[in-house]
Amino acid sequence: MSDFSEELSKNIKGAVLAQEPLARHTTWRIGGPAEVMVIPQNRQDVQSALRLAARRGKKVTVIGNGSNLLVAESGVEGLVLKLVGGLTEWRLEGQRLRAESGCLLPGLSRASVAAGLTGLEFAAGIPASLGGALVMNAGAHGGELGSLVREVLACNLSGEQITLARQDCDFGYRKSVFQQGGLIVLEAVLELEQGERENGLQLIQSNLAKRAESQPLEYPSAGSVFRNPPEAPAARLIDAAGAKGLRIGGAMVSDKHANFIVNAGGATASDVLELIDTVKQMVVEKFNIELHPEIRTLGCSRD
Ligand SMILES: Cc1cc2nc3c(=O)[nH]c(=O)nc-3n(C[C@H](O)[C@H](O)[C@H](O)COP(=O)(O)OP(=O)(O)OC[C@H]3O[C@@H](n4cnc5c(N)ncnc54)[C@H](O)[C@@H]3O)c2cc1C
Repeated sequence: MSDFSEELSKNIKGAVLAQEPLARHTTWRIGGPAEVMVIPQNRQDVQSALRLAARRGKKVTVIGNGSNLLVAESGVEGLVLKLVGGLTEWRLEGQRLRAESGCLLPGLSRASVAAGLTGLEFAAGIPASLGGALVMNAGAHGGELGSLVREVLACNLSGEQITLARQDCDFGYRKSVFQQGGLIVLEAVLELEQGERENGLQLIQSNLAKRAESQPLEYPSAGSVFRNPPEAPAARLIDAAGAKGLRIGGAMVSDKHANFIVNAGGATASDVLELIDTVKQMVVEKFNIELHPEIRTLGCSRD
C-alpha cells in the first residue's frame, strides 16, 4: 500500500482501494488500474480525499457508474473518486426529487413513478449515476435529464461548493458545463410533475422492452458510441457503410445496433479505439459525414 492510499484510509470512512482494476467499474469491462480509488461514504469523505490529493499534487478523476467510459489498459494515475456506492441519499420534496450524485437513474426513475410522479420514465433503462447523467445530459425516448433540473450542487477540486441553476448548466445534446472539468456534481434537485402511477409503470415497461429488442444488452458496452449527426442517426449511417459485425480484437460493432461497440471477449481500449477510427473512416468514405464519439476516454492518448 502506498503512502497516499494509507493516508486516505486513515482519513476516510468509505472504501480506499489501491491499484483497483477499472475494468470492474466500467460497463465495457475494460480498463487498467486506478492508482487509488476512493468510494466516499459521504460528502465529508469527498472533501477529505480532495484535500489530501491536492496536498500531494495528485490528479483527481471522478467517475459515476462507468457506463460511458473507455479506460486505457495503463489505467489512471492519481485519485479516482467513484461516487456510485456512496452519496446515495435521495428524498422527495413534494414534486421535487432531491438526490445525491451516486444514486442510479433506474432506481430514481422507478421510485419517482411509484410515488405518483412523472418525468423520469425515460431514464429507467439508462445504467447511469445521477452525476454522470447530468454531466452527459443523458436522454432517451424523447426525454433529457437537463430539462428536469431545478438546481445542481457541485464542488470544485478544492472542495468549495457552488449551486448552479439549470440555465448555468449549459445543457445541450449530450452536453453540459460539467464536461469542461473542474466541478464535481454532488447533488441535484429535479422538478417532476404529478402523474398516474400505472401509466408511468407501463411507460417504463414499454421503454425497457424497446431497448431489449434493439440493443445488445447481453454484451458489455457503453451504449451508443457516436453522437447522432444532424443528417441521420449514427446507427443508420454505420449500418449503411457496411460496418455492422466488424471486429478488431475483442471489440465488435454490434450486429443488433450498429452504434454499439460491444466487448465480445477480452477487448482492450486500443481495440475499441481502432474500431472507432475504422468506423469513422468507413462513414466518411461512404457519406462524407464525420461522426464524433459520445463516449469519454480516460488514460487514452486522445483524452
Ligand atoms: C446499455 C447502455 C445503454 C445506454 N443508454 C443510454 C441512453 O439511452 N441515453 C444516454 O444518454 N446514455 C446512455 N448510455 C450511456 C451512459 O449511461 C450515459 O452517458 C451516462 O450518462 C453515464 O453516466 P455514468 O454515471 O455511468 O458516468 P461515467 O461513465 O462514470 O462518467 C461519464 C463522464 O462524467 C464524469 N462524471 C461522472 N460522475 C461525475 C460527477 N459526479 N461529477 C463530475 N463528473 C462526473 C466522468 O468523469 C466522465 O467524464 C447507455 C450506456 C449503456 C451501457
